[in-house]
Amino acid sequence: MKTIQTTIYECEYCGKYYKSKYFAGLHESKCRKNPANFQRCIGCKFLDIKNVKIYFEQPILGPNLGVSFIDADKYEDLMYCEKKKHFVYPFWAANPIPQEDIEGEIPNEPMPKKCEHFKDSIL
Ligand code: SF4
Ligand SMILES: [Zn+2]
Repeated sequence: MKTIQTTIYECEYCGKYYKSKYFAGLHESKCRKNPANFQRCIGCKFLDIKNVKIYFEQPILGPNLGVSFIDADKYEDLMYCEKKKHFVYPFWAANPIPQEDIEGEIPNEPMPKKCEHFKDSIL
């Protein structure tokens, strides 16, 4: 039997273990228990989900098999603040949908860390 002594990295917010310092750091920057990633909207009674039309460019094969794009649309569920009347996205959203691609061009803003309108959804 082989015994290996090695360094293990632990997320200081949630306790997850990593063999790689790089991946541990990457995780900590996105960890939902990291206070820097706190988002006021989670648990707020004004947070809702809206199914909305999204415009995008659909890639298609052109006549000479080159790729070209046509305008297309689809419906997606996005998080919506009923108080501020705009969409909100969490910090972990990789590619938040820009306002101009949302039907009605309703703004899509990052969830705030503090909000004067927060109302606990449990109360
Ligand atoms: S009122 Fe504030 S905390 Fe509540 S959902 Fe809207 S932006 Fe988020
Ligand atoms: Zn963590």
